[in-house]
Amino acid sequence: METYDFVVLGRGLMGSACARWVAESGATVALIGPDEPADRASHAGPFASHHDAARITRRVSHDPVWSDLSAASIERYRDIEQRSGLPFFHPVGGMMAGRYSPGMSGFTKGLEKSAETWGAERMTAEDVRHRYGFALPDDAVVSYEPNDAGWIDPRAMREAQEILAVRAGATVIRQTVTALQDGTVTLADGTQLSAGQVVVATGGYARTDGLLPARPAMRVYARTVAFAEVAGPIPQMPTLIWVPEDVEDDLYLLPPVKYPDGRWLIKIGGEIDSPRLETNTQMTEWFQSAGGTEAGARLVQHLRDVVPDVEWSATHAEACAVSFTATGYPYIARMSDRMTILTGGNGAGAKCADELGRLGSVVARGGDAPGFEAVFDDR
Ligand SMILES: Cc1cc2nc3c(=O)[nH]c(=O)nc-3n(C[C@H](O)[C@H](O)[C@H](O)COP(=O)(O)OP(=O)(O)OC[C@H]3O[C@@H](n4cnc5c(N)ncnc54)[C@H](O)[C@@H]3O)c2cc1C
Repeated sequence: METYDFVVLGRGLMGSACARWVAESGATVALIGPDEPADRASHAGPFASHHDAARITRRVSHDPVWSDLSAASIERYRDIEQRSGLPFFHPVGGMMAGRYSPGMSGFTKGLEKSAETWGAERMTAEDVRHRYGFALPDDAVVSYEPNDAGWIDPRAMREAQEILAVRAGATVIRQTVTALQDGTVTLADGTQLSAGQVVVATGGYARTDGLLPARPAMRVYARTVAFAEVAGPIPQMPTLIWVPEDVEDDLYLLPPVKYPDGRWLIKIGGEIDSPRLETNTQMTEWFQSAGGTEAGARLVQHLRDVVPDVEWSATHAEACAVSFTATGYPYIARMSDRMTILTGGNGAGAKCADELGRLGSVVARGGDAPGFEAVFDDR
């Protein structure tokens, strides 16, 4: 049986980062997981939450823990890009806009404090409309980070991490793991590997697939994202997270990004609630779908409201999944002498995946990541 110091399950954003940190420390590591499916509608799973062209990145957050995770990662983006030869960071600027409406004052207070910490610009709704064309509520409290914020290409960032991990000696195995016991990992073709330490970084599947000895306390939500194909000139704008007039929650918007098929798509997401996914079958059915019809239509209406001057020729929706933990922070913890869990992006894990991967490697090597303890359901 092939033996490694570490086996990392999941070639996603956290797993690829963790594999790089472990490999660059000199240990032997296998990074295991399937490639992105060529055809989502017929793929049986597993899927991933990073199969898209853009994710927002920013240091300003209503929560200082998330700010620190992002800031540590953003500081290393250029180094990872340069060493891997793969660019993924687009610092087009990042805007966040809260409101002192009944349910949102905690969010907005945290946001204002964070804007001050990171020296973000403060703007009025009128300035924003004039400079970027966003139609925000008049009472919006706006923070704008012109530098070190914008969007990352998550596919490219994942690939960059993997390139560096392989350069440091990691082995990539393009298979799904079907069983896991005491440092022994079984692959879909029946092969078994042995590891001193297994890091499980399988995103929402850590809850739904039953591979772990205990079930992480996570709400895995079926989420819908809406896209509009930009028809006229491509407008230049920062990323935006905001609270509309009639919604007691925040929405997010990605500026026009050129997708692999050549289309320029502007994207909007954010839902107060959506169905929960508890099994692999539910995950597969959801990811194979085109998201929720009503949720997609509602998002397109919000998009029309917030960028009234952008012309588009077509819209469509897609499905994704987000995993919210009981603590509100990622789970980066030992489950046993030979197993570490690294999951729980809480809808914000892409931008900070490098720091999360580093913390995963610390815990896997016997260290601590205080504040990122895992909570499990009772069986
Ligand atoms: C619509 C949407 C928008 C988002 N927007 C943002 C944003 O703007 N900014 C931000 O920071 N974050 C954002 N996020 C969150 C971010 O994408 C996630 O937090 C991040 O992808 C989580 O990384 P991960 O490595 O935990 O999981 P994933 O990226 O999902 O990777 C998990 C990997 O595990 C693999 N896997 C699963 N089961 C197995 C198995 N049995 N064997 C082997 N491999 C397995 C999968 O194939 C997958 O590649 C968004 C998420 C969604 C869904």
